[in-house]
Amino acid sequence: MANFIFAPMSKKVRVRFAPSPTGGLHLGGVRTVLYNYLFAKHQGGDFILRIEDTDQTRFVEGAEQYIFDCLNWCGLIPDESPVHSGAYGPYRQSERKEIYRQYAEQLVKQGNAYYAFDTPEELEQMRTAYKTEQNPSPQYDIHVREKMKNSLTLPADELERLLDEEARHVIRIKMPQGETVSFTDMIRGEISNETSLVDDKVLLKADGMPTYHLAVVVDDYLMKITHAFRGEEWLPSAPVHVLLWKYLFGLENMPQWAHLPLILGPTGKLSKRDGAKYGFPVFAMNWTDPKTNELTEGFREKGFLPEAFINLLALLGWNEGSEQELFTKEELIQKFSIDRVHKGGARFDFEKAKWFNHEWMKKLDAGRLMPDVKKVLNKKGIETNDDTVLEKVIGLVKDRCTLLPDFYEQAGFFFKTPEQWDVEAVKPKWNDDKKNFFIEYAGQLSQIINWELVELENAFKSLAAEKNIKPGELQLPLRIMLVGGKFGPPVFQIAEMLGQNETILRINKALELF
Ligand code: GLU
Repeated sequence: MANFIFAPMSKKVRVRFAPSPTGGLHLGGVRTVLYNYLFAKHQGGDFILRIEDTDQTRFVEGAEQYIFDCLNWCGLIPDESPVHSGAYGPYRQSERKEIYRQYAEQLVKQGNAYYAFDTPEELEQMRTAYKTEQNPSPQYDIHVREKMKNSLTLPADELERLLDEEARHVIRIKMPQGETVSFTDMIRGEISNETSLVDDKVLLKADGMPTYHLAVVVDDYLMKITHAFRGEEWLPSAPVHVLLWKYLFGLENMPQWAHLPLILGPTGKLSKRDGAKYGFPVFAMNWTDPKTNELTEGFREKGFLPEAFINLLALLGWNEGSEQELFTKEELIQKFSIDRVHKGGARFDFEKAKWFNHEWMKKLDAGRLMPDVKKVLNKKGIETNDDTVLEKVIGLVKDRCTLLPDFYEQAGFFFKTPEQWDVEAVKPKWNDDKKNFFIEYAGQLSQIINWELVELENAFKSLAAEKNIKPGELQLPLRIMLVGGKFGPPVFQIAEMLGQNETILRINKALELF
Protein backbone atom coordinates (compact mmCIF):
# COMPACT_ATOMS: atom_id res chain seq x y z
CA MET A 1 0.00 0.00 0.00
CA ALA A 2 1.20 3.47 -0.79
CA ASN A 3 2.47 5.80 1.85
CA PHE A 4 3.34 9.05 0.17
CA ILE A 5 2.72 12.47 1.49
CA PHE A 6 1.26 14.88 -0.98
CA ALA A 7 1.11 18.62 -0.67
CA PRO A 8 -2.22 19.87 0.69
CA MET A 9 -4.71 20.48 -2.03
CA SER A 10 -5.36 24.11 -2.59
CA LYS A 11 -7.25 23.72 -5.86
CA LYS A 12 -10.70 22.22 -6.13
CA VAL A 13 -10.30 18.53 -6.87
CA ARG A 14 -11.37 17.66 -10.41
CA VAL A 15 -11.10 14.13 -11.75
CA ARG A 16 -12.14 12.66 -15.04
CA PHE A 17 -13.12 9.35 -16.51
CA ALA A 18 -12.07 9.40 -20.12
CA PRO A 19 -13.33 6.32 -21.95
CA SER A 20 -13.06 5.71 -25.65
CA PRO A 21 -16.42 4.59 -27.05
CA THR A 22 -15.02 1.43 -28.56
CA GLY A 23 -16.98 -1.29 -26.77
CA GLY A 24 -18.60 -2.27 -23.53
CA LEU A 25 -17.68 -1.01 -20.11
CA HIS A 26 -16.13 -3.79 -18.09
CA LEU A 27 -15.34 -4.51 -14.48
CA GLY A 28 -11.96 -2.76 -14.56
CA GLY A 29 -13.35 0.28 -16.36
CA VAL A 30 -16.10 0.82 -13.82
CA ARG A 31 -13.67 0.40 -10.96
CA THR A 32 -11.60 3.19 -12.52
CA VAL A 33 -14.71 5.37 -12.65
CA LEU A 34 -15.55 4.46 -9.09
CA TYR A 35 -12.15 5.33 -7.64
CA ASN A 36 -12.10 8.62 -9.51
CA TYR A 37 -15.60 9.34 -8.28
CA LEU A 38 -15.02 8.35 -4.65
CA PHE A 39 -11.79 10.29 -4.49
CA ALA A 40 -13.42 13.42 -5.90
CA LYS A 41 -16.55 13.23 -3.78
CA HIS A 42 -14.53 12.57 -0.63
CA GLN A 43 -12.75 15.87 -1.28
CA GLY A 44 -15.90 17.71 -2.32
CA GLY A 45 -14.61 17.82 -5.89
CA ASP A 46 -16.02 17.36 -9.39
CA PHE A 47 -16.25 14.23 -11.47
CA ILE A 48 -16.04 14.78 -15.21
CA LEU A 49 -16.88 12.36 -17.99
CA ARG A 50 -14.96 13.05 -21.17
CA ILE A 51 -15.48 10.98 -24.28
CA GLU A 52 -12.19 10.25 -26.04
CA ASP A 53 -13.39 9.53 -29.55
CA THR A 54 -10.49 10.74 -31.66
CA ASP A 55 -9.79 7.32 -33.12
CA GLN A 56 -12.59 7.18 -35.65
CA THR A 57 -11.51 3.75 -36.88
CA ARG A 58 -12.32 2.16 -33.50
CA PHE A 59 -15.64 3.94 -33.00
CA VAL A 60 -18.56 1.65 -32.14
CA GLU A 61 -22.09 2.90 -32.71
CA GLY A 62 -24.05 3.01 -29.47
CA ALA A 63 -21.01 2.67 -27.23
CA GLU A 64 -21.23 6.23 -25.91
CA GLN A 65 -24.88 5.87 -24.90
CA TYR A 66 -23.94 2.60 -23.29
CA ILE A 67 -21.33 4.38 -21.14
CA PHE A 68 -23.91 6.96 -20.00
CA ASP A 69 -26.41 4.21 -19.21
CA CYS A 70 -23.84 2.20 -17.23
CA LEU A 71 -22.82 5.16 -15.10
CA ASN A 72 -26.46 5.95 -14.51
CA TRP A 73 -27.20 2.42 -13.43
CA CYS A 74 -24.24 2.46 -11.05
CA GLY A 75 -25.35 5.80 -9.64
CA LEU A 76 -22.03 7.44 -10.55
CA ILE A 77 -23.40 10.61 -12.02
CA PRO A 78 -20.91 13.04 -13.58
CA ASP A 79 -20.96 16.71 -12.66
CA GLU A 80 -19.86 17.56 -16.19
CA SER A 81 -20.17 15.48 -19.36
CA PRO A 82 -21.45 15.70 -22.93
CA VAL A 83 -24.98 15.39 -21.53
CA HIS A 84 -24.58 17.23 -18.23
CA SER A 85 -22.64 20.11 -19.85
CA GLY A 86 -20.39 22.38 -17.77
CA ALA A 87 -17.97 25.26 -18.09
CA TYR A 88 -15.16 23.33 -19.78
CA GLY A 89 -16.96 21.74 -22.72
CA PRO A 90 -17.32 20.37 -25.22
CA TYR A 91 -16.69 17.07 -23.46
CA ARG A 92 -16.38 15.00 -26.61
CA GLN A 93 -12.90 15.17 -28.11
CA SER A 94 -14.14 14.92 -31.69
CA GLU A 95 -15.91 18.24 -31.07
CA ARG A 96 -12.67 19.82 -29.82
CA LYS A 97 -10.63 18.99 -32.93
CA GLU A 98 -9.72 22.64 -33.63
CA ILE A 99 -8.18 23.09 -30.19
CA TYR A 100 -5.35 20.60 -30.50
CA ARG A 101 -3.42 21.69 -33.60
CA GLN A 102 -2.09 24.90 -32.02
CA TYR A 103 -0.49 22.89 -29.22
CA ALA A 104 1.09 20.48 -31.67
CA GLU A 105 2.42 23.44 -33.70
CA GLN A 106 3.73 25.05 -30.52
CA LEU A 107 5.69 21.89 -29.80
CA VAL A 108 7.17 21.94 -33.30
CA LYS A 109 8.21 25.58 -32.85
CA GLN A 110 9.80 24.78 -29.52
CA GLY A 111 11.74 21.90 -31.09
CA ASN A 112 9.89 19.25 -29.08
CA ALA A 113 8.02 17.82 -32.05
CA TYR A 114 8.39 17.59 -35.81
CA TYR A 115 6.43 17.08 -39.01
CA ALA A 116 6.71 13.62 -40.52
CA PHE A 117 5.72 12.98 -44.15
CA ASP A 118 6.41 9.25 -44.40
CA THR A 119 3.82 7.27 -46.33
CA PRO A 120 2.45 3.98 -44.94
CA GLU A 121 4.65 2.17 -47.49
CA GLU A 122 7.76 4.02 -46.29
CA LEU A 123 6.94 3.13 -42.70
CA GLU A 124 6.55 -0.47 -43.70
CA GLN A 125 9.92 -0.39 -45.51
CA MET A 126 11.51 1.06 -42.36
CA ARG A 127 10.09 -1.77 -40.27
CA THR A 128 11.51 -4.37 -42.63
CA ALA A 129 14.85 -2.65 -43.14
CA TYR A 130 15.66 -2.21 -39.45
CA LYS A 131 14.28 -5.47 -38.22
CA THR A 132 16.83 -7.50 -36.32
CA GLU A 133 16.65 -10.45 -34.01
CA GLN A 134 17.10 -8.17 -31.00
CA ASN A 135 14.61 -5.66 -32.35
CA PRO A 136 11.85 -7.57 -34.19
CA SER A 137 9.50 -4.59 -34.46
CA PRO A 138 11.50 -1.39 -34.93
CA GLN A 139 9.76 1.80 -33.93
CA TYR A 140 9.96 5.35 -35.23
CA ASP A 141 12.39 6.59 -32.63
CA ILE A 142 15.64 8.34 -31.94
CA HIS A 143 17.61 5.71 -33.90
CA VAL A 144 15.41 5.85 -36.95
CA ARG A 145 14.11 9.40 -37.18
CA GLU A 146 17.26 10.74 -38.84
CA LYS A 147 16.73 8.37 -41.74
CA MET A 148 13.09 9.21 -42.35
CA LYS A 149 11.21 11.91 -44.25
CA ASN A 150 10.55 14.58 -41.67
CA SER A 151 11.22 18.18 -40.78
CA LEU A 152 14.42 17.14 -39.03
CA THR A 153 15.92 15.62 -42.17
CA LEU A 154 14.39 17.47 -45.14
CA PRO A 155 16.13 20.50 -46.65
CA ALA A 156 14.39 23.75 -45.66
CA ASP A 157 13.05 24.54 -49.13
CA GLU A 158 11.57 21.10 -49.62
CA LEU A 159 9.97 21.25 -46.21
CA GLU A 160 8.43 24.60 -47.04
CA ARG A 161 7.14 23.30 -50.35
CA LEU A 162 5.54 20.25 -48.71
CA LEU A 163 3.88 22.37 -46.05
CA ASP A 164 2.63 24.86 -48.66
CA GLU A 165 1.21 22.03 -50.69
CA GLU A 166 -0.45 20.72 -47.52
CA ALA A 167 1.18 17.37 -48.14
CA ARG A 168 -0.16 14.62 -45.90
CA HIS A 169 1.78 14.60 -42.65
CA VAL A 170 1.62 13.85 -38.96
CA ILE A 171 3.27 15.58 -36.02
CA ARG A 172 5.47 13.40 -33.81
CA ILE A 173 6.97 14.09 -30.42
CA LYS A 174 10.77 14.27 -30.49
CA MET A 175 11.76 12.14 -27.54
CA PRO A 176 14.87 13.63 -25.96
CA GLN A 177 18.03 11.57 -25.82
CA GLY A 178 19.30 10.10 -22.58
CA GLU A 179 16.89 11.77 -20.18
CA THR A 180 15.12 10.19 -17.27
CA VAL A 181 11.50 11.17 -16.88
CA SER A 182 10.12 10.72 -13.37
CA PHE A 183 6.84 11.32 -11.65
CA THR A 184 5.26 10.25 -8.40
CA ASP A 185 2.37 7.89 -8.82
CA MET A 186 -0.13 8.09 -5.96
CA ILE A 187 -0.18 4.30 -5.67
CA ARG A 188 3.25 3.22 -6.86
CA GLY A 189 5.45 6.05 -5.75
CA GLU A 190 8.39 7.26 -7.83
CA ILE A 191 8.33 5.98 -11.41
CA SER A 192 11.21 6.66 -13.79
CA ASN A 193 11.60 5.95 -17.48
CA GLU A 194 14.48 6.38 -19.90
CA THR A 195 13.40 8.56 -22.80
CA SER A 196 15.52 6.72 -25.35
CA LEU A 197 13.39 3.62 -24.86
CA VAL A 198 10.17 5.37 -25.87
CA ASP A 199 9.26 5.94 -29.52
CA ASP A 200 8.36 9.25 -31.16
CA LYS A 201 4.62 8.90 -30.77
CA VAL A 202 2.31 10.58 -33.23
CA LEU A 203 0.58 13.55 -31.59
CA LEU A 204 -1.47 14.88 -34.47
CA LYS A 205 -2.71 12.55 -37.18
CA ALA A 206 -2.88 13.23 -40.91
CA ASP A 207 -6.62 13.85 -40.66
CA GLY A 208 -5.97 16.66 -38.17
CA MET A 209 -7.26 14.66 -35.23
CA PRO A 210 -5.04 14.46 -32.18
CA THR A 211 -3.96 11.09 -30.86
CA TYR A 212 -4.84 10.10 -27.34
CA HIS A 213 -1.45 11.30 -26.05
CA LEU A 214 -1.86 14.89 -27.15
CA ALA A 215 -5.58 15.12 -26.46
CA VAL A 216 -5.37 13.69 -22.95
CA VAL A 217 -2.73 16.23 -21.90
CA VAL A 218 -4.38 19.24 -23.53
CA ASP A 219 -7.80 18.36 -22.17
CA ASP A 220 -6.63 17.54 -18.67
CA TYR A 221 -5.00 20.98 -18.68
CA LEU A 222 -7.94 22.89 -20.15
CA MET A 223 -10.42 21.07 -17.93
CA LYS A 224 -8.29 21.79 -14.86
CA ILE A 225 -7.99 18.13 -13.89
CA THR A 226 -6.11 17.72 -10.62
CA HIS A 227 -5.99 13.91 -10.23
CA ALA A 228 -6.28 11.07 -12.70
CA PHE A 229 -6.89 7.43 -11.88
CA ARG A 230 -6.46 5.12 -14.84
CA GLY A 231 -5.57 1.51 -15.59
CA GLU A 232 -1.95 0.39 -15.32
CA GLU A 233 -1.96 -0.36 -19.05
CA TRP A 234 -1.30 3.38 -19.45
CA LEU A 235 1.94 3.32 -17.48
CA PRO A 236 4.15 2.92 -20.59
CA SER A 237 2.59 6.09 -22.03
CA ALA A 238 3.14 8.10 -18.88
CA PRO A 239 6.64 9.41 -19.83
CA VAL A 240 5.19 10.86 -23.04
CA HIS A 241 2.46 12.58 -21.06
CA VAL A 242 4.87 13.91 -18.46
CA LEU A 243 7.08 15.37 -21.21
CA LEU A 244 4.12 16.97 -22.93
CA TRP A 245 3.13 18.56 -19.64
CA LYS A 246 6.64 19.83 -19.17
CA TYR A 247 6.84 21.29 -22.70
CA LEU A 248 3.35 22.78 -22.84
CA PHE A 249 1.99 23.67 -19.44
CA GLY A 250 4.64 23.19 -16.77
CA LEU A 251 4.94 20.16 -14.55
CA GLU A 252 3.54 22.01 -11.56
CA ASN A 253 0.14 21.98 -13.25
CA MET A 254 0.19 18.28 -14.08
CA PRO A 255 -2.50 16.14 -12.43
CA GLN A 256 -1.38 13.59 -9.88
CA TRP A 257 -1.52 10.18 -11.51
CA ALA A 258 -2.67 6.92 -9.97
CA HIS A 259 -2.27 3.81 -12.10
CA LEU A 260 -4.65 1.11 -10.90
CA PRO A 261 -3.57 -2.53 -10.89
CA LEU A 262 -5.23 -5.09 -13.10
CA ILE A 263 -8.19 -7.10 -11.88
CA LEU A 264 -7.27 -10.78 -11.89
CA GLY A 265 -9.44 -13.86 -12.20
CA PRO A 266 -9.40 -16.69 -9.67
CA THR A 267 -6.46 -18.30 -11.45
CA GLY A 268 -4.64 -15.35 -12.98
CA LYS A 269 -5.46 -12.80 -15.64
CA LEU A 270 -9.17 -12.47 -16.39
CA SER A 271 -9.69 -14.31 -19.64
CA LYS A 272 -12.29 -13.76 -22.34
CA ARG A 273 -13.85 -17.04 -21.32
CA ASP A 274 -14.17 -15.80 -17.73
CA GLY A 275 -15.86 -12.73 -19.15
CA ALA A 276 -18.44 -14.73 -21.07
CA LYS A 277 -19.09 -16.85 -18.00
CA TYR A 278 -19.25 -14.14 -15.39
CA GLY A 279 -20.50 -11.25 -17.50
CA PHE A 280 -17.79 -8.69 -17.04
CA PRO A 281 -19.53 -5.91 -18.89
CA VAL A 282 -21.83 -3.91 -16.70
CA PHE A 283 -24.72 -4.89 -18.84
CA ALA A 284 -25.44 -6.54 -22.14
CA MET A 285 -24.51 -4.61 -25.23
CA ASN A 286 -26.83 -4.53 -28.16
CA TRP A 287 -23.87 -4.98 -30.46
CA THR A 288 -21.45 -7.85 -30.56
CA ASP A 289 -18.34 -7.04 -28.59
CA PRO A 290 -15.61 -6.39 -31.18
CA LYS A 291 -13.10 -7.98 -28.82
CA THR A 292 -14.94 -11.24 -28.32
CA ASN A 293 -17.33 -11.16 -31.27
CA GLU A 294 -20.06 -12.24 -28.92
CA LEU A 295 -23.18 -10.82 -27.37
CA THR A 296 -22.24 -10.82 -23.74
CA GLU A 297 -24.48 -10.85 -20.72
CA GLY A 298 -23.53 -8.30 -18.11
CA PHE A 299 -23.80 -7.94 -14.36
CA ARG A 300 -27.20 -6.28 -14.69
CA GLU A 301 -28.68 -9.16 -16.69
CA LYS A 302 -27.27 -11.67 -14.27
CA GLY A 303 -29.34 -9.93 -11.62
CA PHE A 304 -26.80 -7.91 -9.67
CA LEU A 305 -27.96 -4.83 -7.80
CA PRO A 306 -26.04 -1.63 -8.48
CA GLU A 307 -25.59 -1.10 -4.73
CA ALA A 308 -23.84 -4.48 -4.47
CA PHE A 309 -21.93 -3.99 -7.70
CA ILE A 310 -20.22 -0.77 -6.65
CA ASN A 311 -19.62 -2.17 -3.18
CA LEU A 312 -17.81 -5.23 -4.52
CA LEU A 313 -15.89 -3.16 -7.05
CA ALA A 314 -14.70 -0.74 -4.39
CA LEU A 315 -13.23 -3.65 -2.48
CA LEU A 316 -11.39 -4.99 -5.52
CA GLY A 317 -8.20 -3.14 -4.70
CA TRP A 318 -9.14 -1.03 -1.70
CA ASN A 319 -10.04 -1.75 1.89
CA GLU A 320 -10.78 0.38 4.85
CA GLY A 321 -8.48 -1.58 7.12
CA SER A 322 -11.35 -3.03 9.12
CA GLU A 323 -13.48 -6.16 8.93
CA GLN A 324 -16.36 -4.25 7.39
CA GLU A 325 -17.27 -5.40 3.89
CA LEU A 326 -20.64 -3.85 3.24
CA PHE A 327 -20.55 -0.19 2.40
CA THR A 328 -23.18 2.11 0.98
CA LYS A 329 -22.03 4.59 -1.63
CA GLU A 330 -22.17 7.34 1.00
CA GLU A 331 -19.95 5.35 3.36
CA LEU A 332 -17.51 4.67 0.55
CA ILE A 333 -17.33 8.37 -0.23
CA GLN A 334 -16.68 9.09 3.40
CA LYS A 335 -14.06 6.38 3.88
CA PHE A 336 -12.23 6.10 0.58
CA SER A 337 -8.60 7.04 0.69
CA ILE A 338 -5.92 6.52 -1.90
CA ASP A 339 -3.33 5.32 0.60
CA ARG A 340 -5.39 2.19 1.15
CA VAL A 341 -5.46 1.21 -2.54
CA HIS A 342 -3.33 -1.87 -3.17
CA LYS A 343 -0.46 -1.95 -5.58
CA GLY A 344 -0.94 -5.63 -6.45
CA GLY A 345 -3.64 -6.98 -8.74
CA ALA A 346 -6.98 -7.62 -7.07
CA ARG A 347 -8.66 -10.98 -7.55
CA PHE A 348 -12.21 -11.15 -8.78
CA ASP A 349 -14.15 -14.08 -7.37
CA PHE A 350 -17.64 -14.64 -8.75
CA GLU A 351 -18.84 -16.48 -5.65
CA LYS A 352 -17.77 -13.56 -3.49
CA ALA A 353 -19.55 -11.19 -5.88
CA LYS A 354 -22.74 -13.19 -5.37
CA TRP A 355 -22.23 -13.02 -1.63
CA PHE A 356 -22.21 -9.23 -1.84
CA ASN A 357 -25.42 -9.28 -3.83
CA HIS A 358 -27.13 -11.57 -1.35
CA GLU A 359 -26.11 -9.30 1.53
CA TRP A 360 -27.55 -6.34 -0.34
CA MET A 361 -30.81 -8.21 -0.97
CA LYS A 362 -31.12 -8.57 2.77
CA LYS A 363 -30.10 -4.99 3.42
CA LEU A 364 -32.35 -3.19 0.96
CA ASP A 365 -36.01 -2.73 1.71
CA ALA A 366 -38.72 -4.36 -0.33
CA GLY A 367 -39.87 -1.06 -1.82
CA ARG A 368 -36.46 -0.41 -3.35
CA LEU A 369 -36.38 -3.90 -4.86
CA MET A 370 -39.92 -3.75 -6.21
CA PRO A 371 -39.27 -2.28 -9.69
CA ASP A 372 -36.51 -4.83 -10.32
CA VAL A 373 -38.56 -7.76 -9.06
CA LYS A 374 -41.54 -6.64 -11.16
CA LYS A 375 -39.35 -6.82 -14.26
CA VAL A 376 -38.15 -10.31 -13.35
CA LEU A 377 -41.72 -11.55 -12.82
CA ASN A 378 -43.19 -9.78 -15.85
CA LYS A 379 -40.51 -11.28 -18.06
CA LYS A 380 -41.75 -14.68 -16.95
CA GLY A 381 -45.34 -13.77 -17.77
CA ILE A 382 -46.42 -12.99 -14.21
CA GLU A 383 -48.42 -9.79 -13.89
CA THR A 384 -48.43 -8.18 -10.48
CA ASN A 385 -51.06 -5.50 -10.13
CA ASP A 386 -51.17 -5.00 -6.38
CA ASP A 387 -48.02 -3.26 -5.17
CA THR A 388 -48.92 -3.73 -1.50
CA VAL A 389 -49.08 -7.49 -1.98
CA LEU A 390 -45.89 -7.52 -4.04
CA GLU A 391 -44.03 -5.51 -1.44
CA LYS A 392 -45.06 -7.94 1.30
CA VAL A 393 -44.06 -10.92 -0.83
CA ILE A 394 -40.65 -9.38 -1.52
CA GLY A 395 -40.20 -8.78 2.19
CA LEU A 396 -40.95 -12.45 2.84
CA VAL A 397 -38.57 -13.94 0.30
CA LYS A 398 -35.75 -11.48 -0.38
CA ASP A 399 -33.39 -13.02 2.18
CA ARG A 400 -33.55 -16.22 0.14
CA CYS A 401 -32.55 -14.56 -3.13
CA THR A 402 -28.97 -14.13 -4.26
CA LEU A 403 -29.50 -12.74 -7.74
CA LEU A 404 -32.63 -10.98 -8.98
CA PRO A 405 -33.87 -13.85 -11.19
CA ASP A 406 -34.13 -15.94 -8.00
CA PHE A 407 -37.29 -13.96 -7.26
CA TYR A 408 -39.09 -15.91 -9.96
CA GLU A 409 -38.53 -19.17 -8.17
CA GLN A 410 -38.91 -17.74 -4.68
CA ALA A 411 -41.91 -15.49 -5.30
CA GLY A 412 -43.53 -16.73 -8.51
CA PHE A 413 -45.84 -19.16 -6.67
CA PHE A 414 -47.50 -16.29 -4.83
CA PHE A 415 -48.93 -15.09 -8.11
CA LYS A 416 -49.31 -18.27 -10.09
CA THR A 417 -50.69 -21.67 -9.08
CA PRO A 418 -47.86 -24.19 -9.34
CA GLU A 419 -47.83 -26.24 -12.51
CA GLN A 420 -45.93 -29.09 -10.93
CA TRP A 421 -45.81 -30.48 -7.43
CA ASP A 422 -42.91 -32.34 -5.90
CA VAL A 423 -45.13 -35.38 -5.33
CA GLU A 424 -42.10 -37.59 -4.70
CA ALA A 425 -41.25 -35.63 -1.56
CA VAL A 426 -44.67 -36.38 -0.07
CA LYS A 427 -45.47 -39.86 -1.33
CA PRO A 428 -43.34 -42.06 0.95
CA LYS A 429 -45.09 -40.81 4.08
CA TRP A 430 -48.51 -40.12 2.60
CA ASN A 431 -51.48 -42.05 4.01
CA ASP A 432 -55.25 -41.85 4.35
CA ASP A 433 -55.05 -40.15 7.75
CA LYS A 434 -53.11 -37.31 6.28
CA LYS A 435 -55.40 -37.14 3.31
CA ASN A 436 -58.45 -36.88 5.60
CA PHE A 437 -56.69 -34.29 7.69
CA PHE A 438 -56.27 -32.03 4.69
CA ILE A 439 -59.81 -32.57 3.47
CA GLU A 440 -61.06 -31.47 6.86
CA TYR A 441 -58.56 -28.64 7.15
CA ALA A 442 -59.65 -27.26 3.78
CA GLY A 443 -63.20 -27.38 5.07
CA GLN A 444 -62.27 -25.46 8.21
CA LEU A 445 -60.35 -22.88 6.20
CA SER A 446 -63.44 -22.07 4.22
CA GLN A 447 -65.19 -21.15 7.48
CA ILE A 448 -62.55 -18.71 8.68
CA ILE A 449 -63.77 -15.14 8.78
CA ASN A 450 -60.55 -13.34 9.71
CA TRP A 451 -57.98 -14.68 7.26
CA GLU A 452 -54.97 -14.18 9.49
CA LEU A 453 -51.85 -16.21 10.15
CA VAL A 454 -52.68 -17.08 13.79
CA GLU A 455 -56.13 -18.35 12.85
CA LEU A 456 -54.75 -20.58 10.10
CA GLU A 457 -52.02 -21.90 12.31
CA ASN A 458 -54.27 -22.50 15.33
CA ALA A 459 -56.84 -24.37 13.27
CA PHE A 460 -54.03 -26.49 11.81
CA LYS A 461 -52.54 -27.34 15.19
CA SER A 462 -55.82 -28.14 16.93
CA LEU A 463 -56.95 -30.37 14.10
CA ALA A 464 -53.59 -32.16 14.09
CA ALA A 465 -53.86 -32.72 17.86
CA GLU A 466 -57.39 -34.00 17.46
CA LYS A 467 -56.27 -36.44 14.76
CA ASN A 468 -53.21 -37.37 16.75
CA ILE A 469 -50.77 -36.52 13.96
CA LYS A 470 -47.58 -34.61 14.62
CA PRO A 471 -47.94 -31.11 13.05
CA GLY A 472 -44.35 -31.38 11.82
CA GLU A 473 -45.39 -34.29 9.58
CA LEU A 474 -48.15 -32.26 8.03
CA GLN A 475 -46.25 -29.08 7.35
CA LEU A 476 -44.17 -30.43 4.49
CA PRO A 477 -47.21 -31.68 2.55
CA LEU A 478 -48.93 -28.34 3.16
CA ARG A 479 -45.89 -26.50 1.88
CA ILE A 480 -45.75 -28.62 -1.24
CA MET A 481 -49.46 -28.09 -1.82
CA LEU A 482 -49.08 -24.33 -1.68
CA VAL A 483 -45.65 -23.85 -3.23
CA GLY A 484 -45.06 -26.89 -5.40
CA GLY A 485 -41.67 -27.63 -3.81
CA LYS A 486 -39.70 -27.83 -0.60
CA PHE A 487 -38.80 -24.16 -0.30
CA GLY A 488 -40.10 -20.75 0.61
CA PRO A 489 -40.85 -18.72 3.73
CA PRO A 490 -42.85 -20.07 6.73
CA VAL A 491 -45.85 -21.92 5.37
CA PHE A 492 -48.62 -20.08 7.25
CA GLN A 493 -47.23 -16.78 6.05
CA ILE A 494 -47.54 -18.14 2.54
CA ALA A 495 -51.15 -19.18 3.14
CA GLU A 496 -51.97 -15.80 4.62
CA MET A 497 -50.55 -14.03 1.58
CA LEU A 498 -52.25 -16.38 -0.90
CA GLY A 499 -55.66 -15.66 0.57
CA GLN A 500 -58.54 -17.92 1.37
CA ASN A 501 -59.73 -19.03 -2.07
CA GLU A 502 -56.31 -19.70 -3.52
CA THR A 503 -55.10 -21.62 -0.46
CA ILE A 504 -58.12 -23.91 -0.47
CA LEU A 505 -57.93 -24.32 -4.23
CA ARG A 506 -54.28 -25.38 -4.08
CA ILE A 507 -54.90 -27.85 -1.24
CA ASN A 508 -57.72 -29.47 -3.19
CA LYS A 509 -55.80 -29.55 -6.41
CA ALA A 510 -52.77 -31.15 -4.77
CA LEU A 511 -54.91 -33.68 -2.92
CA GLU A 512 -56.01 -35.11 -6.26
CA LEU A 513 -52.36 -35.72 -7.12
CA PHE A 514 -50.92 -37.06 -3.88
N1 GLU B 1 -9.14 7.09 -23.45
C1 GLU B 1 -8.35 6.32 -22.55
C2 GLU B 1 -9.02 4.95 -22.38
O1 GLU B 1 -9.81 4.61 -23.18
C3 GLU B 1 -8.22 7.04 -21.24
C4 GLU B 1 -7.00 6.76 -20.45
C5 GLU B 1 -6.80 7.82 -19.36
O2 GLU B 1 -7.60 7.84 -18.44
O3 GLU B 1 -5.90 8.64 -19.47
O4 GLU B 1 -8.80 4.21 -21.48
